[in-house]
Amino acid sequence: MRTNGRDVPEGTELKAQVCVVGSGPAGITVAWYLQKAGIDVILIEGSREHGGVLSRSWPDKDLLYAGDAVGLFEHNEPGFLTSPLYQGQSPSERERFFGGTSTHWGGQSRPLDAVDFEARPGFPGWPIARADLDPWYAEAADFCMLHGDDFTAEYWAGTLGLPPSAVPRIPGFDTCMYQFLGGDFLDFATRKFPDGSTISDSRARVILNASLLEIEQQDGSVACLRVASMTDTDPPEKNGEFFIRADVCVLACGAVANAQQLLLSNIGNEHDQVGRYFMCHPLSMGTNVSITQPFLTAAQNDLVGGNRADGSLWRDANGVRVTGRFQLDADTLRQYGIGNCWMRSYSAAVYFEMAPNPDSRITLIADTDPVFGQRQVQIDWQLSPLDQTTYETSTALFKAAVNTLGGDINAPPWSRMLSAFVVNGHHLGTTRMSSDPTQGVVDANLKVHSLDNLYVAGASVFVTAGVSNPTFTIIALSIRLADHLRAKLAAT
Ligand SMILES: Cc1cc2nc3c(=O)[nH]c(=O)nc-3n(C[C@H](O)[C@H](O)[C@H](O)COP(=O)(O)OP(=O)(O)OC[C@H]3O[C@@H](n4cnc5c(N)ncnc54)[C@H](O)[C@@H]3O)c2cc1C
Repeated sequence: MRTNGRDVPEGTELKAQVCVVGSGPAGITVAWYLQKAGIDVILIEGSREHGGVLSRSWPDKDLLYAGDAVGLFEHNEPGFLTSPLYQGQSPSERERFFGGTSTHWGGQSRPLDAVDFEARPGFPGWPIARADLDPWYAEAADFCMLHGDDFTAEYWAGTLGLPPSAVPRIPGFDTCMYQFLGGDFLDFATRKFPDGSTISDSRARVILNASLLEIEQQDGSVACLRVASMTDTDPPEKNGEFFIRADVCVLACGAVANAQQLLLSNIGNEHDQVGRYFMCHPLSMGTNVSITQPFLTAAQNDLVGGNRADGSLWRDANGVRVTGRFQLDADTLRQYGIGNCWMRSYSAAVYFEMAPNPDSRITLIADTDPVFGQRQVQIDWQLSPLDQTTYETSTALFKAAVNTLGGDINAPPWSRMLSAFVVNGHHLGTTRMSSDPTQGVVDANLKVHSLDNLYVAGASVFVTAGVSNPTFTIIALSIRLADHLRAKLAAT
C-alpha cells in the first residue's frame, strides 16, 4: 500500500513494529523481507510524488541536499551533493526520489572478497567475515534475479561455452566476474520481486513525501521519529508534522544522509565517529590507463567481454549479462599492504579501493535548507598517501605482469590522476561497523551502539571499500538485517 504523507493529519502518531527510513535498495530490501515475514512495517520516503519522472524531483533535491563539497570535490566534482547530472552526462550521484539511486544505477554486481573483510595495515578488519555473508549473498542473488551466486571466471568460462584456457592467468591478479542485473529489475521502486509484487503492492505501508526530521531518544531507545511532509507547491514548503512510534527503526538514507540524520539528532556520536571515513572507488574520469600492447587471446577477450565463443553477447532469460576485470589477488594485497585496484583489458579509466581516512568526512554546517530548516552538510573528500601507493604499486604490478604475457600498458602519473578522480556513485563509510564503540557507529548486527532499537542499512556501514560495486553487498546486509530483526521481534 502506498500513501502520501501530505494526507497524514498534523500531529498524527502512527505505530508499527518497524519503521524504515529511505526507499533505495537498502530500505526497500529490508522492508520487503520484513513484510514477507508478516511484520508490520512502515517505509517512509522523503521524496514527493513526481509521477515516476526522476528529473521532476531535481528542484526538490537542490533545496534539500545542498551543502558544501570541499577537499578533492572543490576541483573535481563541485556539484557532488546536488548536481542533476553526473559529469554532465548521466543522472547524478544522489537522488531524493522513490527508489533512491536505484532509479539510474548500472546494476553491476559482485560480492566483496574474503580478503576485504580481513585486517591489513591501513585497512581495519570487519567484525564479520565473508563466510558470515555467504548465505545472504546467495539469497541476494535470487532476490536480484542474477544468474546464480558463482562469480568465478572458471564457472563463467563454462557458462559462456568457452574453453578453460579462456581464463587469463595474470601473475598477481585474479580475473573477477561481474554480473549486471537485467533492466526490469534495476529500479527498486517499480520492479517486481520474486513473488510478483512491487514494494508498493506488498504488505509494507509505503509513505511517500515523509521526510525524517528528528530521531527522538529516551533512556537508550528511539522513542519516536518526527517526520514532515511538503506541500504540492513549487517550490515546496513544509506541510504537517507527524510521528512514528515503532519497536525498531532502520535508517537507510544513503551514506551522506545517514550520517547527516544521526548528527542532526546527536545520536551515536559519543566517540566522534559519525560522518568519518567517507570512502568511494575513485574513478579517473576521462583519464585512462592505456593498453598499448594487447595481452589476451581471443577466447580470453570473449570471457571478459561476456561473449559466447561465436563472439555474440551472452544474456540470460532475465537479461543478466557479465563482464570481467582484473584485481590484485589476496596474497599480493597482503604482501604490499595496499588497497585493491580494477584493471581492464582495454584502455579505460582506473578505479581503486580508497583507504579509510578519518579526515575524509561529513559534518554539519550552520546553513539550513529552505524547506524544513535542517542544517546542511559539509562533505570533505580527502585521499591519503596510502591511496597514492595503491595506485602507483598496482599499476606498476599490472604493467610488469602483462609484460610477461607480451603486452604493455601506460599508466598516467598520480599527479594527473589526482585531478581526474570522481566519486563515481559509490558512497561508503560514515557510520561504519565495529565491535568497538570507540571505533565505529554500528555493531556487527548494524545496531547503533548506544541505542537498543536503531539500526543502519546501506554502504555507510562498510568498514573498507574493496573494489566490488557496493549494492550487491548492501542488499545482502539488508536481507541479513531483516532476518535479525525478525528474530529479535519474535523474541520480545
Ligand atoms: C551513476 C551511478 C551508477 C551506479 N552504478 C552502480 C552499479 O553498477 N553497481 C552498484 O553496485 N552500485 C552502483 N551505484 C551505486 C548505487 O546506486 C548505490 O550503492 C545505492 O543506490 C545505495 O542504496 P541506498 O538504499 O543505501 O541509498 P539510496 O539509493 O541513495 O537511497 C536513499 C533514499 O533515502 C531517501 N532519503 C534521504 N533522506 C531522507 C529523509 N530525511 N527522510 C526520508 N527519506 C530520505 C532518498 O530520497 C532515497 O530514496 C551507482 C550510482 C550512481 C550514481
